[in-house]
Amino acid sequence: MDIPRIFTITESAHRIHNPFTPEKLATLGAVLRLEPGTRILDLGSGSGEMLCTWARDYGITGIGVDMSQLFSQQAQHRAAELGVADKVTFIHGDAAGYSADEKCGVAACVGATWIGGGVAGTIELLAQSLCANGIILIGEPYWRQEPPTEEVAKKCFANSIANLCSLPELVASFGELGYDVVEMVLADQEGWDRYEAAKWLTMRRWLEANPEDDFAKEIRTQLNEAPQRHVAYTREYLGWGVFALMAR
Ligand code: SAH
Repeated sequence: MDIPRIFTITESAHRIHNPFTPEKLATLGAVLRLEPGTRILDLGSGSGEMLCTWARDYGITGIGVDMSQLFSQQAQHRAAELGVADKVTFIHGDAAGYSADEKCGVAACVGATWIGGGVAGTIELLAQSLCANGIILIGEPYWRQEPPTEEVAKKCFANSIANLCSLPELVASFGELGYDVVEMVLADQEGWDRYEAAKWLTMRRWLEANPEDDFAKEIRTQLNEAPQRHVAYTREYLGWGVFALMAR
């Protein structure tokens, strides 16, 4: 079981697989006012940076589930590196339908809401693992500016304009699902640069090391197009944020 190889090539050097910088991730942990010992479930935990740094900085414990074998291994290494291997556990597996044995104070899905079939389904899934008055974290993209054409939406890795909504619409949708939005931290263009531009050097180095690989042609095409695509589209049109929710 694994995710498509393109991601494990282009994001192999990422610690955070979304447009948050380490500073934004620390801000999110701080604004949640986490008590030491808070249990956190993270579905689609990637390379584990959120749980590992919050275990170090705020004394939380955590369980992460991720379908990428590479990212799950990297998460375990990161936990050892930060001295929190006794506080966090990373499970390599499909998080669809996953619920924790013990209820959690925070249940998160940060940039992987397809796991529950979209935002509403993911909130429902996370709610199964949540204590009363616990916090759900949803990391989700939105249109920072609405694209003028469907073609522009596709350049932003969205299937269509209708696939994403504006920030006010996204925030309203949480209310419609019966949740208070109790905090939020939004990514900025610097964060998008870190997420997207970090892929370019990784791709370049990978091409040097793997010239004969079946994937080399695909990676070469992506590297040719990615910087222009980023500055013309993603950076301008896409927003992203993490929203903290509590059931009304
Ligand atoms: N939350 C992490 C990773 C976001 S990227 C971070 O912010 O850094 C999306 C992640 O979802 C990837 O790590 C990918 O491997 C994982 N993923 C995709 N489908 C999944 C599934 N069905 N179950 C568990 N993880 C999944």
